[in-house]
Formats: sequence, structure tokens, C-alpha cells
Amino acid sequence: MRVLKWILTIQYIFTFLVAGETTAYLPQHPGTPLGSRPDISPDYFQQGIYYMIDATFNPETDRISGSEKLTYTNNSPDTLYYVYFHVYQNAFIPGSYHDIFDSGKGNDNIRTLTKADHGGQTILSVQDGEGGSLSYTIDDTNMEVWLSRPLPPGEPAIFIIEFETKFSGADARMHKGDDYYVGSQWYPKMAVYDRKRGWNNDYHLGREFYGDFGIFEWNLTLPANYIVGGTGRLLNRDEVLPADLMDKLDITQFADKPLKEDPSVIIEPNGKTKTWVYRADQVHDIAWIASPSFRIGVAEWDGIKVYSFAREQHASKWQDAAEIGAIFIEDYSNRWGRYRYHKMIVSDVEDGMEYPMLTADSDLSPGYIGLLGHEIGHNWFYGQIGSNETYRAFLDEGFTNYITSVTMDSVWEKNSGTFYQGWYKTNYYPKKTRKYIRNDLLYLQFARSGYERYPLNTHSDHYAEYANYRLVYSKTASMLYNLETVLGKDVVNRIMQTYFSRFLFQHPYPEDFIRIAGEVSGKQLDWFFREWLDETGTIDYRISKLSSVKIEDNYFVKMTLKRHGTMEMPLDIRLTLADSTVKWVHIPNRKDPQKPIPDSWFVSKTWVGWNRFNNTFSVDIPVQASVTEAKIDPSGRLSDVYQLDNIKGKYPPVRIQMDNLYKYYPTLDAYDIYVRPSFTYNSIDGLNPGIHWFSGYLLDGNIRQYHTEGAIRYRLPSKPPEVALFMETPIRFLNGLTHGFLNYEDTGLDNLMEIGYTATVRSTLTEKPYHELSLIYRMNRLNDPKYVPIWQSWEAGLNRSIILNHQYHWKQGKITGDYEVKYETSIHGSREQFTQYWVTTIHRIKWDLPLDIRTFIGWQSDGTPSQMAMKLTGDTYFNSAHASWMYGGRGGLPSFLFHGDHFQVPGGGNLRSLISPAIRLRWQEVINLQTDPSSYFEQIAGYSTVKDYLGITPLIFVNGAMYESTSGRSDAIIEFGAGITRPMSIIPPALGTYTLRIDGAVPLWGPDAGSKVVVSLQQAF
Ligand SMILES: [Zn+2]
Repeated sequence: MRVLKWILTIQYIFTFLVAGETTAYLPQHPGTPLGSRPDISPDYFQQGIYYMIDATFNPETDRISGSEKLTYTNNSPDTLYYVYFHVYQNAFIPGSYHDIFDSGKGNDNIRTLTKADHGGQTILSVQDGEGGSLSYTIDDTNMEVWLSRPLPPGEPAIFIIEFETKFSGADARMHKGDDYYVGSQWYPKMAVYDRKRGWNNDYHLGREFYGDFGIFEWNLTLPANYIVGGTGRLLNRDEVLPADLMDKLDITQFADKPLKEDPSVIIEPNGKTKTWVYRADQVHDIAWIASPSFRIGVAEWDGIKVYSFAREQHASKWQDAAEIGAIFIEDYSNRWGRYRYHKMIVSDVEDGMEYPMLTADSDLSPGYIGLLGHEIGHNWFYGQIGSNETYRAFLDEGFTNYITSVTMDSVWEKNSGTFYQGWYKTNYYPKKTRKYIRNDLLYLQFARSGYERYPLNTHSDHYAEYANYRLVYSKTASMLYNLETVLGKDVVNRIMQTYFSRFLFQHPYPEDFIRIAGEVSGKQLDWFFREWLDETGTIDYRISKLSSVKIEDNYFVKMTLKRHGTMEMPLDIRLTLADSTVKWVHIPNRKDPQKPIPDSWFVSKTWVGWNRFNNTFSVDIPVQASVTEAKIDPSGRLSDVYQLDNIKGKYPPVRIQMDNLYKYYPTLDAYDIYVRPSFTYNSIDGLNPGIHWFSGYLLDGNIRQYHTEGAIRYRLPSKPPEVALFMETPIRFLNGLTHGFLNYEDTGLDNLMEIGYTATVRSTLTEKPYHELSLIYRMNRLNDPKYVPIWQSWEAGLNRSIILNHQYHWKQGKITGDYEVKYETSIHGSREQFTQYWVTTIHRIKWDLPLDIRTFIGWQSDGTPSQMAMKLTGDTYFNSAHASWMYGGRGGLPSFLFHGDHFQVPGGGNLRSLISPAIRLRWQEVINLQTDPSSYFEQIAGYSTVKDYLGITPLIFVNGAMYESTSGRSDAIIEFGAGITRPMSIIPPALGTYTLRIDGAVPLWGPDAGSKVVVSLQQAF
């Protein structure tokens, strides 16, 4: 080691002597001195860095021991008295600011690390170039170092630091897997001192990085059986990765290796070590990956090598990774500016993260294409353009999202013919339309929800929830596509190219991009960037009127538009005429059009206005025939949040497609209707075949937008069809998270109608805690008693009731809590007069031996009809009859399950002991405790193999219940039981989540109870 260091030092002294330099440590690329970039700004400067790092990694202890020598050139106009280093890994010790930040949001990833899994960076010494000790203080992830003498502008200072860094067990960027390591943020790294913010010494709270550009000469020593990939040129390739070893590691030899099968051993561990020596120029960080299981693929574009480092257990599904990398490198280079480094590594390390010349990836072919494209894309916006990600994450994440989608949108589709003939091409990619790719739906869905709480100009640590933070990706990409609609694609391309070339290896801020956009386009764009970066308004235009008039032989189209959103944009509108020709119309929002408009287009007068100011606009357009259709932005770039009213013509914009039950890609400019066959079965009618539909516009899981779902099924000719209908809509005037709904069913068994209202109260859109309050009016009548399943009893007559429901859901550390209070009472016009209430609490504690605790209290009045009455061993008859998997009426499920109550519907007391279901209860109080004892069984040989093979999870439970029957008799039961559960993942999630459960209990106490085994299709709770 020492010898190697001396060789390298002497080698570089020699290099500098030959070059006529006088000191061995003077960097060749000393940053950018003050005033040297007048094209950026007269006060632009960039500090110079030159690291020499010598490190040893011991996988036995997860520790890196290293020494670094940093030559730091002060190019700023300021004299420095102290500097800051990042010691990032201190974030991964319980009690760190990162821990406090995360646990405040219910994430105890760091708090719960065992002592052995703590991270941390130990600084052993800090010296100046003459060997004098420097005084320093460490504050969480910052180290402040006081200089021995002031550092004036233009002068270098030397820091020599001995350090030790430990891999933590946290789910973090620097992380370890079963058989690999990702070494990132592992050395004390100088913080950036820049022209805008001075010292950028933000504490590390888990998001984004920032570094100065310079030279890194570094080496890493580790056991000889590890294969390493790192940032920079591998200087001793012949020694550590000779040709014969590369042959043995060639990934193509493992193309047929079964996925997840244990890797072979290529280099026997023999106690020896290898030293990997690198040099990287013009980078702002270095990282490495290491694993004995890496197998290597190689591809090339124009002299740039792309390597894939895949672990052998995934090698069969990583065969094309290097080639995919080369395609992205080529396309990004051609579009935005050439890739300036000599290589790129894509690696299989369960991550999605970028480092200079190295990306840490996951997933398998072909699903990983988008991820590889994104992380490689970062080598343009992050790697070669070093923006301040912590301060404004959109400059790297959003720009990268944009360039990835441009390439996915164009090159990938073309190349998919050569690379993906099979399943991927036909089933996966084509379903995402170009318009879909251009519009990251996340932004549109957030914008519609009204829960877009932060403008893009927000510090990355200041977003309250990850879902909102994700907008730095999606909204920025949308912004750049919308800039295309304003300026035209060619001008935006030139803006991006100018930005890339001017800020190559520099530190831009948002205002720099805005200035270049103005300079290249020659337009005033302050309005555009203010809307997109500083505000959270929405774009929402509508064509409200469209007609043609004929005056003598001339036609005129009269069109009226309305702006509902607060944002303004210029509009391109395509008119389709009766003679099948088209006429394009451009409506500028500034004095003149801001992009070149073809002569054949009609340019209207300017529509100035925003918010409610001037929100209606009419225009007359001379044309050659009457108009049949008008459509705003057929290119699909405009991020209009409701595009169904952007088209006016003969047909409503509707798209009908088969419901594949798995993947839904919403259509931007049409209302989606998904249809599929549907049937129920009962022993009276036999099979009732029909059709099911599901429809809505830009639907997503979090924000319940307007949608309908329903089915209609044929019964016998003499009988009316089975009908089911559900409709839900947000109630906008209250807020986007207030909903009304209608539920209607008419079957052989019964007729049900519910009209309800739900308000969700929450401060974030996706995270706990939140409250949900519902008020429901319900009407229900038995249609025909012969459809009542044999195991139920049901009373005839129309019942009307009101249901009040309050739910509260929270999460703190290892505990999640769900509370529900439900009250139902009959109202005027109901045949039965009754009242019921239920109070349920569920706590789930994720200890090694997880514990789920449920309590339940229920009460009901005497008049409660049988179908509504609570059942001791399960939920109400009524609810189970309306569970989709159960319904069909009599004969819907095999009757042997119900003899002796061997089918259990969860709810109520969740009891399994043999209790007569005929007992009608007045009240019941219950506690259910259950656990998955896997962590104890895992020590038994073969247990995990069997468990994984069968996909089953064991279950142990104890239930205690007290109850009183309507006859006034009270009783108590304590039962102990065990069983297994298996998720029914074969059933598409669109049909619901099912778990097969077989368990049984023996009564420990309870005069009438007996042992019993039950089957269920749901978890107990
Ligand atoms: Zn990213």
C-alpha cells in the first residue's frame, strides 16, 4: 500500500516537473477563478479541488480506513478563515438530524438500527500541508475546520485527513447488500463555497448532493475476490482486471443461468487483497461498487465504453444492460452535448442513483430501461452540469426526467424493433402513448387534486412528503414540454444545448437557465418561469363555443374559449373542416407569438389575462369550409389538467379498451372506459353472464377523481338483469378531498341503494395521519327469499338507515394504528326499527415477532334485522352477502364450507371456536392478538425454503370475548389457535386483495365452545 502510494506520488511529481510545474499538489484544473466566465456572470467563480485518497475496505468490519490529501484553491473574492467538510455517514446514527427528520414522519429506519449497524465517520486527524494540526468541530454531518492562516483569494490550501467510515445498515445511498457494497459519500468531502449561497453546508437529511469539480486520484484496497467498479479511469487494469479474468467474468456466459440461483465462485477468497487505482478528472464526486458476484458486460459508442456490472444471480436478465446504456449515451450526446467522460458503468445493486461515470441500479430487463436511462441521464444534469441539488432539486431530477422521456419517446420506440421483439414490445411499451410519456401523470394528478403544496423553487429538505417532492421530477419535465409549446421544439433544444455547453463542469442556479432561455429565444419569459417555478397554479382551458357562419362565399369559424385555471399559456388549436382539410390557429398570450408560426396558420389577436382577469376569449377565423372539430394542442404537450373539454366536435372524446386488470395507462385527451366480461353464479339462475365496466379520466389511487364502475348481467329470460353501479365524484367547492358517491345494486337476492358523502382531512396527500368522515343514507329490500344463501337468514321488507362513520389512521415508528367508529340507525320509513354501533381499533407493531392487536366493541338494539345483525364469529350477513367474491346468492360457494360454520368472514369477534351462530347478541367486547412466528422458526433447517416455496405465512392467535345474547345470557370465551395464510396473488389486484387462510382454535375457557377449523379468503384483521 505505502509503496504504491509512493510510486503514484513520485509519478505525479515527475509529471509536474516535466510540465514545468513547481509543486506536486497544484491542481491542473483549479476550478474557475473570479471573473474568468463573463459569459456566465462577471462575479462567477468556482473553487478548485484536487483529492488524493488512499483507502482500505474491510468487509469483515464494514469499515473503510483512509487518508485523503485535498489541495483546495480559493477562487472566491473572499478570504477564508474556516472551511466545511461533509461527513455524510454521521447521518446514519440514531439521534442524527436525519434520524429526527425521518422519525418525525413516522420512518424509524435510522432510529431502530442496532449498534452493529450504526454508520458514522470518525475523523482521526486533520492537518495542513506542513503537517500542523488543524482544529475542527464536528456537528452532525458537518465538520468545520479552522485554517492555520487565512486563505486569501487565488491561493491554495492543503488538508490531510485520516478517517474511518462505516457502512450502516440503513436503507441509504451508501449501503450494503447480501453480496455487494455501494461506496458513496464515503470520504470527508469539501462543501461547496459558491457565489450565491456562500458555504453550502446543509445537514444531510437524505436528499441530494452538491460538489465542486476537480481531480480525484484514489485507490481502494479490499479482498482479492471482490470485483470493483468506480468513478474514473482504472489505472492498473492489467493488474486487477486482466484479460483472462475479464473472460471469466463475461456476462454472456451466464445468459442461461437460472434467475436467483446462487452465484459460482470465480476467485477463491485467499486472504490476499487487491488495490484498485483510479484517476478521475472534472468530476465532483467519486463512488464505487464491489461484489464477488459481479459479471461484466461491455458495449461501446464512439469510443465511450459502457460496462454492466450484474450479480451472477441476475445475469440472465442483465444481458442487454450495457447495450441499453450505450443507446442512451449516444442519444443524449447527440441531442444535448457529447458525454465528456470515457466510460459509464450500470450496476445491479438494488438502488436507483447516479454518480459520475457510475450508476447504481436495480430491476431486470426490460423493466429497467427507464431507470438506466434516468440514472445515465443524470450524468448530464448532475454529473457534467453540477447544479446545487440540495437547494433546487428540479435542476437535476427534472431535467433528467425530461431528457429520459424525450429519448424513450423517440429513439426507444424505433429501436424496440431490434432489441425487443417479444413480450415487451407487444405488451408493455406500446401501451404508453407518446402523449403519456410526455406528460408525467403524477404532475397532472397532483395539479388536479389541489394538493400541490410547494412550488418547484423549494429547498429539497423542505417538502413535507415524498409524493409532493416527486414533483421536482414530473412537473419540471412537464415545464420543459410546455416551454416547447411556447417557443417551439427547436428553440428549446438550442436552449438546452447552450445551457449544457455553457455550464459544462460549472454550477448553475435556476436564474442561469432562465437567462439562457431568454437569450437564446430572444423572448421575455419571466411570466412562464414565475408560473412554473414560483407558483402552484394550473392550466385549464376549455373550448366553450364553436360554430361556422357563411357570409357570401366565405366561411368563418366563431370560437369562444374559457380559461378555468390560474396559469396562462399561448394556445395552438387545430380546426378540422368539412372538406377534410385542417386549419391551425395560434392564440398568443403576449404581444407577438413567441415561436415561429408557419404562414398557413391563422394568428389571432392576443389573449392577455390570468386568474379571473379576462378569462373568456372569442375569435373569428376565416376558413374555406365549415368546421367539424376543434382541438387544443393535439401534440399532447400542454399540461392542461382537464383535457376532455379541449376538444369540441361531433363525438365526445371517449376511449373504450379491454380491462386487462393489471396495467392502466390513462389517456390524456379522452375519457377511459375499460370493459371486461363478468359473471355471477347461483343455484337458482345458474350462470349470469354479463359485462363489467370501469371508467374515469386520469384516475389514480390517491385522489378519488370522478369515476364510475358497474356491471350488467343477464339472468333468466323471465327475470330482470342483475345491475351494479357505483359512482364517485369530488365535491370541488368544498375541496378536492371531499367526495359524494352513489352505490346501487339490484340482484335476485336484494335491492340496495346508498348515497354517501366522505370528507378526508389530512395535511399531506399520501402520508398518515388522516381522518375520514362519512355520512351514508342506505335503503335495502329483499327481492326474493329463495336466493338467500342457505347459511344466512334474512328478513323481508324495506329498511332505511343512516350510517355515520369516523376513521383515523396513523403511523409512528414501528406501530400503525387504525380506529373506526361506526353508528347506524334506522330512520322514518324503515320496516325494522334498530340501532347499531361498532368501535374497532387495530394496532400493528413490527417487532421481530410482530404483534397485531385488535379490540372490538359492538352493540345493537333488539329490532335489528337478521341480515344486519352482528354475528359472533364474523361480520354481518348483510356485508358478506355484498362482498363481491361471495355474492351470487345461494350456491355461490360450495355449501360444505358452511355446514358447521367452517367458512369465516372476518369481523365481529373473529372467533373460531364452535359457537352456535343462532345466538343473537346484544353486545360483545373482544380482544384479538395475533403474530407471525416466522422469525422463531427460521432457525429450523429447511423452514425458509418450504415457506418460500409454498408462499405461506404461519399465524398464531389468542382471542378473548365477552358477550350477552338477546335472551339476556352473558358469557365469555378465551381461545387459542394457529393456522397458515397465503396471499392469492394469482387474482388480479383490480378484483381485490385476497388471502387464503386456514386456521383453527381450541377453547381455553368458555362453557359452550368447542374446537373448530375454518377457511377464509381474507386476513382475520
Ligand atoms: Zn434522479
